[in-house]
Amino acid sequence: MLGQMMDQELLISSIIDHAARSHGDTEVVSVNTDGTQTRTNYSEVQIRAKKIGSVLIKRGMERSDRIATIAWNNYRHFELYYGISGAGFVCHTVNPRLFPEQLIYILTHAEDKIVFFDATFIPLIDGVRSHLPNIKHWVLMEARTAELASQHDWMEFYEDLVAEGDDDFNWPSDLNERDASSLCYTSGTTGNPKGVLYSHRSTLLHAMMSATPDVMNFSARDCLLPVVPMFHVNAWGSPYAAALTGAKMVMPGPGLDGKSLATLFNDEKVTIAAGVPTIWAGLIQYLEASGTKLPYMQRTVIGGSACPPVMIDKFRDEYDVEVLHAWGMTEMSPLGSVNNLKNKQLDLSTEAQKEIRLNQGRPPFGMELAIFDEDFNQLPNDGITQGDLYCRGPWVLDEYFLAEKGTTLKNGWFDTGDVATLDADGFMTIKDRSKDIIKSGGEWISTVELENIAVGHPEIGGAAAIAAKHEKWDERPVILAVKAEGSNITEAELLAYYDDKIIKWQIPDKVIFVDQLPIGATGKILKKELRAEYENVLIDN
Ligand code: AMP
Repeated sequence: MLGQMMDQELLISSIIDHAARSHGDTEVVSVNTDGTQTRTNYSEVQIRAKKIGSVLIKRGMERSDRIATIAWNNYRHFELYYGISGAGFVCHTVNPRLFPEQLIYILTHAEDKIVFFDATFIPLIDGVRSHLPNIKHWVLMEARTAELASQHDWMEFYEDLVAEGDDDFNWPSDLNERDASSLCYTSGTTGNPKGVLYSHRSTLLHAMMSATPDVMNFSARDCLLPVVPMFHVNAWGSPYAAALTGAKMVMPGPGLDGKSLATLFNDEKVTIAAGVPTIWAGLIQYLEASGTKLPYMQRTVIGGSACPPVMIDKFRDEYDVEVLHAWGMTEMSPLGSVNNLKNKQLDLSTEAQKEIRLNQGRPPFGMELAIFDEDFNQLPNDGITQGDLYCRGPWVLDEYFLAEKGTTLKNGWFDTGDVATLDADGFMTIKDRSKDIIKSGGEWISTVELENIAVGHPEIGGAAAIAAKHEKWDERPVILAVKAEGSNITEAELLAYYDDKIIKWQIPDKVIFVDQLPIGATGKILKKELRAEYENVLIDN
C-alpha cells in the first residue's frame, strides 16, 4: 500500500520559490568585482534566475547540459545557481585558482556548453579560450559596456541575457529530483581532478539537514556570509540552506582580506559565517592589529582543514563567537560532521566542554561514518582506535562523473582517505589524511596534532608537519613553521614547547622556519609540495 501524500519532487527551484514567497524582501547583499555593492532580495533573485533559465533554453541548451561558472561569491553567481539548475541544466562551478591546464581539462571533461565568468577572470578566460572550441557562449557577468564589447568581440554580457529572458517563464515541470543539478571537481592534489555530480534530491536533503541546529543552524533571523567560495563545494551548500530558511545573505565578492571581511561583518550585522582556517587566520590578525571587535557575529563554521584549538579559543574568548568545527569533502556535498554539544554534556565543566568542542563533531541524520582496518574489518567506536574513515548516505557520491561503473565505492562505502577515531557519542576526530600521516617505527603520528601544538605557540603564525625519511625509523616528523611578525623564536624553543603536550617520541626531529607555506586552490596547505622539498632533510644531514 502506498502512502497517500502529495508526490512532489525535491527540486532546487522549489528553494528559491519558497524564499521569494515567504522572504521576498529579505536582502541579498553583494560586493561586486569592482568593489561596489549591490543590494537585491530573494524576490528579485527568483525573477532574474527564471529569466536566465529561459534564456538558456532559448540558446538551445538541452536537459542536463553542463554550464560553467568561474566567479566570486556575488548575486549574479547566486542567480545562476538557481537559474541553471532550476531550468534543468547542471551548474558546474569551476575554481579559478586552478592552473590553466587544469581549467582546460575540467571544462573539456565536463563538456561545458556555456561559461559565465567575472571580470577578474577575463585574462584567464582569454588565455584558455582557443583550447575550448566546444564552448558556445562566453558570458561576462556584468552589464555591457561599449569598451569591453569592442575589446572582446567573443564576449556576451549577463545583463543582456537577463533582458532577453521571459517574464512568464515556468520552471520545467518534468524535472525529476534524481536529475543532475550541479557539478564540482575535487581539488586534484593527486592525478586529474574528478567530478562529483550532485542531484536535486541530494542537494535538498543536504540543505535541509545542514540548516538544523546541530549542524549549521541557519534561521530567518540570521545573516549569513559565506567566505568559502561558491566554487568550493557550492560554498558548503550554504546558498541553498540560506534561501531555504530565509536567512539574509551577504556575499563578499573578491574581498577576502581581514579588513574587508571585518567591515562587511559589522556593517551588515552578519550573525554567521563559514570558511577555511587560513581565511580566519587573516581575519584574526587584522582584528588583533586594529582592535576591531565583532559585536553581531554569533558563530562561524570552520572546516576544510583542521581548525586549530587556539583559533576556537580566540574566537570564543576574545570575540564571543562560537566556532562550529566542521568536516566534509567535495564527495559529500560536503557536510559530514559538525561539532556541537549534547544535552548530557551541558552539565560538564567548562574545561571538559572545551575539550569536546575541539574535534570534528558528529554526523547529522543522513550521514553514516565508520572506521575500518586495512582488511576492511570495522573498528570499535571507542574514541581511541584509529582507522580509515568511510561514509555513506544520500548526499555521498556513488560514482565519479564519467568514471567507470563500480570503481568508486567499497562494499557500498566511500573511502574518505582520512584516518580518524569515532567515539560512542558519534564524535569524530580526524587524525590525518592517510597520505600525510607519519609512520615512525611502525607507530602513527598525527600531523594535525603536531600542527595544532605549533600554532598554539603565540610566536608561530602557521605550521605544517610532514613525514621526513629516516634511516632507523622509516619516517620522522619535521615541522615547517612560519614565525609570527617580529618573532625571533628558535628551533629549540619551539621543540621545548612540545615537551608537556605530547608523548616524547612524537616530538618532531626538526623545525625548519620558512617565510610562507604553499597554499592550494581551496585554501589548504600543499603538503605534497613540502614533502617533495623537505622529505630528505633528515637523511641529508
Ligand atoms: P575537499 O574535498 O577539497 O574539501 O577536501 C576534503 C578533505 O579536507 C577531507 O577529506 C579532509 O582531509 C580535509 N578536511 C576537511 N575538513 C576538515 C577538518 N575539519 N579537519 C581536518 N581535515 C578536514
